[in-house]
Amino acid sequence: MFEKGLPGGQITSSSEIENYPGSAQILSGLDFMAPWAEQCMRFGLKHAMDEVTRISKNTDGSFHIALAGGKSEDAKSVVIATGSTPKRANFEGEAEFFGKGISTCATCDGFFYKNKEVVALGGGDTALEEALYLSHICSKVYLVHRRDTFRASPSTIEKVKNNPKIELVLNSSVKNAYGDKMGLNGLIVVDNAGHERDISVPGVFVFVGMNVNNSILKQEDGTFLCDMDEMVMLWLI
Ligand SMILES: Cc1cc2nc3c(=O)[nH]c(=O)nc-3n(C[C@H](O)[C@H](O)[C@H](O)COP(=O)(O)OP(=O)(O)OC[C@H]3O[C@@H](n4cnc5c(N)ncnc54)[C@H](O)[C@@H]3O)c2cc1C
Repeated sequence: MFEKGLPGGQITSSSEIENYPGSAQILSGLDFMAPWAEQCMRFGLKHAMDEVTRISKNTDGSFHIALAGGKSEDAKSVVIATGSTPKRANFEGEAEFFGKGISTCATCDGFFYKNKEVVALGGGDTALEEALYLSHICSKVYLVHRRDTFRASPSTIEKVKNNPKIELVLNSSVKNAYGDKMGLNGLIVVDNAGHERDISVPGVFVFVGMNVNNSILKQEDGTFLCDMDEMVMLWLI
């Protein structure tokens, strides 16, 4: 198995997992995934920390796996489970202040905003869970969502609605981010009626979905190694 990051995948950045079948205890993502690696190793998994840059086909039908370190491997079959990467919301100023106040990972960057006000953007499970996580660190979390209903589990929605440190800013989207050389100073959000609101915060967390990591299947001529579907997240070849 080639893994470019921490074994365990993106769930290792979650602060608490409470919806996994059979797991009665609420665990952090890191604690949750630790036994998975241990169990795989017990079954003889060979694990290497390296990034796969491209998978292509050899003339004999086997697969060629090019690695970032410069080496390569050949295999008769390949399972690709490269997951996904957080999407950007694409508002004005997002790219300019990304990494200077705008982030997609609360567990990585939340502590920079201890006792400060922040915005969490989005309305799915990740946005709500991360808003709850941020509410333990920050003085206030504005949860900005373009609709007035959430696509998250009912228990999470309930927790968010009952959290006095979270203010819901619904039916609203971000017009632009503003700041200076030091970083982000805030956001202008606009509601469905066209009213603008200035939310002055040093931190904004964007949780608006994920992009499938399928670039390693892209061949030199721009085609993909196998049929693609934007929504497919796991490929078996
Ligand atoms: C903050 C957060 C909280 C979440 N909370 C929950 C929750 O409570 N319950 C729940 O069910 N789900 C939760 N999720 C979603 C869950 O983490 C994902 O659904 C799950 O991790 C997807 O698993 P995956 O194996 O498809 O992909 P990933 O976990 O993304 O794993 C893909 C792996 O492939 C590696 N990789 C990618 N490209 C390459 C390459 N080219 N070469 C080598 N390695 C590569 C990556 O490093 C990564 O480790 C949460 C996610 C986040 C970010």
